[in-house]
Amino acid sequence: MRKEQHRGILPFPLKQYGKSTLGAPLLYAPCKEKCTLLVIAGIHGEEPETTFLLSRILRYFAEPLQSVAFILCANPDGAALGTRGNSNGVDLNRNFPTANWSTKTTLSKATLESKRITELSPGKTPASEAETKSLIKLIGKLQPAEILSIHSPLACVEAPAITPLAHFLTEISETPYKKDIGYPTPGSLGTWCKENSVHCITWELPRLAPEILAQKFARKVAGYLLEKGN
Ligand SMILES: [Zn+2]
Repeated sequence: MRKEQHRGILPFPLKQYGKSTLGAPLLYAPCKEKCTLLVIAGIHGEEPETTFLLSRILRYFAEPLQSVAFILCANPDGAALGTRGNSNGVDLNRNFPTANWSTKTTLSKATLESKRITELSPGKTPASEAETKSLIKLIGKLQPAEILSIHSPLACVEAPAITPLAHFLTEISETPYKKDIGYPTPGSLGTWCKENSVHCITWELPRLAPEILAQKFARKVAGYLLEKGN
């Protein structure tokens, strides 16, 4: 594994898979061969540390990996605005076309201990948002067996099964494994993945400053992905 490179640039060019509601390019780092894992950060715009950490992970690679693709920021408008949802106020992680999708306002919580009080729209219809549509299209094209979706700051690893990657993440982040989050999440990427036979791991980072997250995890995750995804 090479040393972490210049902070100012990514080691290889990204590709575009669509456009956000406000017209920002939706970008991903493709893999060289068949994609087995897609890593996604920044689907919630107020979790920019997920994008920061993933960017730091990518700096360890000299070129795209054989079988792992990456989305640094699935919600660039939300990231630019500092909002959880996109520029329409839609929680993209409740906008996926699942059997239990509903028009009900979605509630989320800021910490594991707090109540779910943050209100957001799940969208007018399933997959109403440009960001959701493009992501579904990209997943269809790449056909990964597993998706790793990075969130913060609930400090847990949630996945239907403890796959080697899920196990590795619980080990390095010293956080609990959860089979599910404890309440229904209609329209979430995780629920959509279940219905479409993709194993989805939600990695909720601990509540730490971006620089600390990078120090703790970037090198370890990069090493794991280089070994398994190359
Ligand atoms: Zn989140």
